[in-house]
Amino acid sequence: MKVLLVAINSQFVHTNPAILYLKAACSDICDVQTAEFTINEPINHIYSGIVSEKPDVVGFSCYIWNIELVYKLCEDLKKALPNVIIVTGGPEVSFENGGLLAGNKNVDYVISGEGEEKLPFLLKLLKNGEKPNKEEMRWLSSYSEISNLDKLRSPYVFVKKDSLKNRIAYIEASRGCPFRCSYCISSVTGGVRFFTLEKVFEAIDILAESGSRVIKFVDRTFNCNEKRALAIWEYILKKGNNSPVFHFEIDPGLLNDTMLDFLKKMPEGLVQMEAGIQSVHEKTLHAVQRPDNVGKALENLRKLISFGNIHVHADLIAGLPYETYEDFSHSFNRVYALFAHHFQLGFLKVLRGSRISHEAEPYGIVYRSYPPYEIICSRWISPAEILRLKDIEACLELFYNSGRFMLTMKVLYDSLGEPFSFYEKLSSHMRREGYLDRPVKALDLYMIMHDYIMREYPFMVHDITESLRYDYLSSMKNPTLPQFLIKNGKALKREKQMLISKYRDKLYIVLPRLKRKSLEEIWHEVYIDEFRFENSSKSRPNGMIAFDFGDVSPVTGLAKSYPLGDV
Ligand code: SF4
Repeated sequence: MKVLLVAINSQFVHTNPAILYLKAACSDICDVQTAEFTINEPINHIYSGIVSEKPDVVGFSCYIWNIELVYKLCEDLKKALPNVIIVTGGPEVSFENGGLLAGNKNVDYVISGEGEEKLPFLLKLLKNGEKPNKEEMRWLSSYSEISNLDKLRSPYVFVKKDSLKNRIAYIEASRGCPFRCSYCISSVTGGVRFFTLEKVFEAIDILAESGSRVIKFVDRTFNCNEKRALAIWEYILKKGNNSPVFHFEIDPGLLNDTMLDFLKKMPEGLVQMEAGIQSVHEKTLHAVQRPDNVGKALENLRKLISFGNIHVHADLIAGLPYETYEDFSHSFNRVYALFAHHFQLGFLKVLRGSRISHEAEPYGIVYRSYPPYEIICSRWISPAEILRLKDIEACLELFYNSGRFMLTMKVLYDSLGEPFSFYEKLSSHMRREGYLDRPVKALDLYMIMHDYIMREYPFMVHDITESLRYDYLSSMKNPTLPQFLIKNGKALKREKQMLISKYRDKLYIVLPRLKRKSLEEIWHEVYIDEFRFENSSKSRPNGMIAFDFGDVSPVTGLAKSYPLGDV
């Protein structure tokens, strides 16, 4: 009997550890193969990839991003391979009797919850030509979890050296979450279960050799157990310089001084932290049963960002109960002020099986009835306001999260405050000009911002031109400046090379590797320019600055820069 476990990921870089766990659990029962596709492939490509394997059983791993595709594929497969048995599992079918696939005649079995015991049980029966009885069917389709994770066979035995180049590898040190946020599927599980540290270390060793540059811990609240978090960070620290980046989802409110002190000494770029703040309003947090420790969470995030060695990602969710558009603007301003490296404005999704899906009516939460079940409005926020926030989110992605405007964002913040109001106006402009309806090239973004500031905030044009030039050089790492950013019309290669000659001795102090290089070689790696801000502040660099295009910060992805003193 040949079994094909299929994952359809949302992007090529993603991988699906669930099908590897299932393969490990079932591989001594029958021939189990896995196949990964992405939602961006034509459906016929996925369909033909599955059919050409001539499977007896197809298992789909179902999520909000692929369930509609799975729905169609089940129908196509049953027509092409009438005897094929289709089994589905994953969060999108674990609740509401299989969700979108409930009662679907093309789906033979729906497995609810964790499948590492249920799938082998089912495959054994099918291999013997049997079918589950009524009680067994009930067990398969009722949500359940594996109580002892150490019983599970390692999925990482299938990960070969260099097999995950350019992709993200996923790892779990625990399952479940200690918290009970009502919009989250992880809150329906029965607390946290842990893998032994030996198993986690073994997995880290394998994935570190997989060629992946980012290893993501999928633990819902990685730092909920201080001792284990520190032990894993310690192990990662010992992996040394050539190790991939490790990504963690944490509750910043649970960080304490010991954890912060440890994280402070991590090498630059070795770890990334993702922290959900979601809202700063007590009533909202209380309504969704999130821990009310926002003050501490924000303060700890501020400390973490100030270390400068860790890429920090902070999240907010729009559309939560009791949060109006204006309330949301306060959440936005407080989180924005942290200047995290990535600031995600998400929208409430009313997921199948989540507690909030039962509370939607009293809260007046109206949401799309198809994946990803995103909010349309609630008692506190109108459809038009949600759409305005969508435009703000699009601008946040283009300007803030692209990482290409870090200094400009700080200059704007220092001068104007109220980042939400700034983004509100900017997004109206972007919408009016049609920039939100089509892709915009990175180079054009600098021009759009420059023109916008000239029009709306002419008193800031000088300083913003300076900061845009600084951002352009840091981010684009390109010595050819666009005309509107050229200072005093001077940008000729000859003039720039003269500057390098003039500042050579200072350059050798900050970048000793240049001592062995010719002027022409240095010209390709280093750019020197003068910056003069009218309004000075700590974040605005005045004087000569050298940009090292040959050395990019692993935290920000920007070229490193060094002050060379005054002209
Ligand atoms: S939102 Fe995060 S903290 Fe809350 S239950 Fe889900 S995983 Fe846990």
